[in-house]
Amino acid sequence: MANRSKAANQLNDFKKAQTKPDVLTTGTGAPVGTKTATMTVGPRGPVLMQDFVFTDEMAHFNRERIPERVVHAKGAGAFGYFECTHDITSYCKAKPFEYPGKKTPLAVRFSTVGGESGSADTARDPRGFAVKFYSEDGNWDLVGNNTPIFFIRDPMLFPNFIHTQKRNPQTHLKDPDMFWDFITLRPETTHQVSFLFSDRGTPDGFRHMNGYGSHTFKMVNKDGKPIYCKFHWKTDQGIKNLPADKAAELAGCDPDYAMRDLYNAISEGNYPSWSLYIQVMTFEEADRFRFNPFDLTKIWPQGEYPLIPVGRMVLNRNPKNYFAEVEQIAFSPAHMIPGIEPSPDKMLQGRLFSYSDTHRHRLGSNYLQIPVNCPYNAKVKNYQRDGPQCVNDNQAGAPNYFPNSFSGPQDDAKYMEHTTTVSGDVARYNTADEDNFSQVTTYWRKVLNPEARQRLCENIAGHAKDAQEFIQNRVINQWTQVDPECGQTIQKLLLKYKAEEQKKQSGVTANL
Ligand code: NDP
Repeated sequence: MANRSKAANQLNDFKKAQTKPDVLTTGTGAPVGTKTATMTVGPRGPVLMQDFVFTDEMAHFNRERIPERVVHAKGAGAFGYFECTHDITSYCKAKPFEYPGKKTPLAVRFSTVGGESGSADTARDPRGFAVKFYSEDGNWDLVGNNTPIFFIRDPMLFPNFIHTQKRNPQTHLKDPDMFWDFITLRPETTHQVSFLFSDRGTPDGFRHMNGYGSHTFKMVNKDGKPIYCKFHWKTDQGIKNLPADKAAELAGCDPDYAMRDLYNAISEGNYPSWSLYIQVMTFEEADRFRFNPFDLTKIWPQGEYPLIPVGRMVLNRNPKNYFAEVEQIAFSPAHMIPGIEPSPDKMLQGRLFSYSDTHRHRLGSNYLQIPVNCPYNAKVKNYQRDGPQCVNDNQAGAPNYFPNSFSGPQDDAKYMEHTTTVSGDVARYNTADEDNFSQVTTYWRKVLNPEARQRLCENIAGHAKDAQEFIQNRVINQWTQVDPECGQTIQKLLLKYKAEEQKKQSGVTANL
């Protein structure tokens, strides 16, 4: 028993803390006489409708599952704090950055994206990296990934893109044709796919990966001066990735690998931490930048926009209950606070709507009353009332209309958002060809070493080999535009895998 991990030993630890069991009750708090027998007419039944001890529990059991998240269904959560270490008040008035030394409590959820809630943690998939700061000005959610970029740059494509990562509507199987068809029809995916199929596509748990706010955001200082920014969380544990074969093996034998690793590390007092950096770009620089700085498929080069240190996040508490604090946690990029505002990034604008919308569906219109989502460092005072599962005092006798003459909550101009000037023709702009390759070429040539390049090609070819040949040809063409050597390597590997498959098939035929 001594060498069992904290996760394995959780029930023993509970028993140690709770030496004497409580009296068992129904949901209404009535004590229960026996929990092992239904109330029946005679020893052989039938069961009586009046058995509330049974129906109370059975009916609740039937409703235990809430809809799982359409994306990011499998995930682990933890709690801790953010400590501001550097003064960035010249850029931002947001409360967590008020002064060096200030600590703000936070919650984090790490996740995979495409799999269902029981799927494997080590799948090749981006990882969600969502942080909720419980600030005095309300909750701020920085809802990012472990990649600084994304597959697409227009939110119109989002549901379709996700469909290609999920299951075929007829077979209910993952479908390489769907996956690579979309990727090769939309070459703006090249950068993110080249991250996903690199070593960083299979991080070794959640502790050894970076996080990124990914989008461009706007920061506003106390004088109302704005600046665009990007957020980077760098792991203090160091980057560590799983070799592709090890990740595949773990998917079979330990699908909860990353969740267990995080839980045990925190339980043992080995608290993981990440350092927060920002990049900033003035509005004037954004106007004349050589590419669209609001394009989510591109990074801002660190040579031109260096990382500025801001602070550190430490995770030091595991959830007390997974469902209450992780399954029900609801992040939304729309949860912003004074000092943090959206940029025109189209993908961000789309997410500002979709995240809160899905939570209203998944958890109900009062999802912000669930304790883990409650902005407990701020007071919620507004004119929203009623709705299903209203579990607080519903703002008691306060007026429910505005304006009013009876001391209802008042707005305050000091919290007004920064005034933005926007002009342009209202239209649907085709963004398919906005330089999909130059940053991927830099990544291939300057960031990856020869061995990492080879593994990237092996991972792409090893997955695309199951797609149809005309789609494979498009894959080769797409990565040839990154670098001819890259395209050729993928082509050679696809030919090799095809020959191996043919040999296998002929062996099977010969054995018949
Ligand atoms: P830099 O050399 O200044 O930055 C390179 C970045 O690449 C670092 O953040 C580094 O992160 C990250 N990196 C290192 N190895 C890998 C890998 N195997 N997979 C993914 N990222 C890795 O160059 P630039 O800023 O000019 O960017 C050059 C290219 O690097 C970009 O085109 C982009 O593809 C990639 N990149 C850029 C990032 C950015 O925000 N500028 C962030 C991540 C990647 P670390 O130091 O943590 O290892």
